[in-house]
Amino acid sequence: NSYKAEADTDFVLPKNHEWARNIVKKWKHSSDTIHTIAPVVVGGEDLIGERKIYDAIDKSQFEDNVLAGRFALANEEDIKRAVEVAKEDVDGWRDLTHSQRHYILKDVAIKFRERRDDLIGIAGAEVGKVFTETDVEVSEAIDFVEFYSHAVRHFESYENLELKGKGVGVVVPPWNFPIAIPVGGVASTLAAGNTVIIKPASVAALCAYEMCKCFWDAGVSKNTLQFLPCPGALAGEHLIPNKDIDFLILTGGEDTAATMMETRNDLFLSAETGGKDATIVTNMADREQAVKNVCQSAFGNSGQKCSATSLLVLEDEVYNDKGFKKALIDTATSMNVGSIWDFKNRIGTLANKVGGNLEKALNQLEGNETWAVEPSYENNNPYMLKPSIKWGVEEGSFIHMNELFGPVLAVMRASDLEHAVKIVNDTGYGLTSGIESLDEREVTYWKENLKAGNLYVNRGTTGAIVLRQPFGGMGKSAIGAGRKAGFYNYITQFVDINEKTSPK
Ligand code: GLU
Repeated sequence: NSYKAEADTDFVLPKNHEWARNIVKKWKHSSDTIHTIAPVVVGGEDLIGERKIYDAIDKSQFEDNVLAGRFALANEEDIKRAVEVAKEDVDGWRDLTHSQRHYILKDVAIKFRERRDDLIGIAGAEVGKVFTETDVEVSEAIDFVEFYSHAVRHFESYENLELKGKGVGVVVPPWNFPIAIPVGGVASTLAAGNTVIIKPASVAALCAYEMCKCFWDAGVSKNTLQFLPCPGALAGEHLIPNKDIDFLILTGGEDTAATMMETRNDLFLSAETGGKDATIVTNMADREQAVKNVCQSAFGNSGQKCSATSLLVLEDEVYNDKGFKKALIDTATSMNVGSIWDFKNRIGTLANKVGGNLEKALNQLEGNETWAVEPSYENNNPYMLKPSIKWGVEEGSFIHMNELFGPVLAVMRASDLEHAVKIVNDTGYGLTSGIESLDEREVTYWKENLKAGNLYVNRGTTGAIVLRQPFGGMGKSAIGAGRKAGFYNYITQFVDINEKTSPK
């Protein structure tokens, strides 16, 4: 009954080159080879019938109109039925012992290990993630499944306490981590003894379906876990208001969280709502290491991570160091953007065409801002936005204060560390934060004063590992702050805890 993190694939090993090439063969033209439509799965049934069909496009092959696949959309009746079934099924699942659920979830983890290649292929086709980025997601998914089921067993050691699932959980995950985040929501809900309905993001529903299959094929019934892809508006109207739901897990925008809270102020909501994450580089930093960590954190997955470094705050001397600036520019511009099916590319495609805050930030220069690297597109593909760097960003500007969710890094100047910390705290967000400094005293000051959930020293700000870096924010980044994904207190959100002998 111990827990250990899963290893990622070593893509340098020759045997793994062949393995990766086979993923390309199978999934690059997935819509030619896979004619099935992913169904809505409600009440143990796979449903397509007359339902609307959503065509998921492969943005890497945008010009050729290649599809990543297709899936059916749930209707109002399906939503109603799903909640009924979830409620009916609660007792059966909740009454299993923690250890019975633990062993079922162990089998789920095995399915994820066996299907790592397909998950990488589907996330490539549907969401445009490069192989190495999805690979770590599959490891994280396995970690979530293993860890949460382990965490619940841990509570068995409190012999006088009874931990029981709250009932029906609804998981609303984002598309940017199309495997790991949905799996984290589903696995924690199930491990705690609840039934679960997942409403995937439309641009990542095929990934969500594939991850559900790992659960079903390992023995979780299609009543206990139901798959309900549908437009957000329909879910907002019919799913969220349903009084038979016991809790909600959301990773998404502040707006969505606010609407959910408004609709259901009676309901427990666990939400992670974005970030405006910064890395501070002090005069005492290893500057080469800083450039590498910052570029990976800012531009990996096109900056579409809540954890991405989108502000780079430089202490005076670093700001004025021409060598540092050149290294930053060279590194950013050498990160190839392009088709995820071609392994030379480090960055794939955006999940959606540029809009909202990102569009605004790309189209304007405020105050004394200049482009150190001007935004541009690869091959005129609107989904292939290359890394760009805005220099001389001023306090209180649009790009300082707003989350963009794209490959744009804003560079700001601070007179000293205290000033740098203030600049970062002023965003009001508080998810991840990084410092590059070799001076212990600076690091201590920063840790004591920087307001963010995940603090990283001389390391990138993305890629938290279950139990090693429990993940979750504060301020505008979270609702229910303090509870962290990948830690014991995440799972206690979804159980009622009572003394065994006392009548309920
Ligand atoms: N857990 C992810 C990381 O550490 C970020 C998740 C998110 O973007 O919501 O990079």
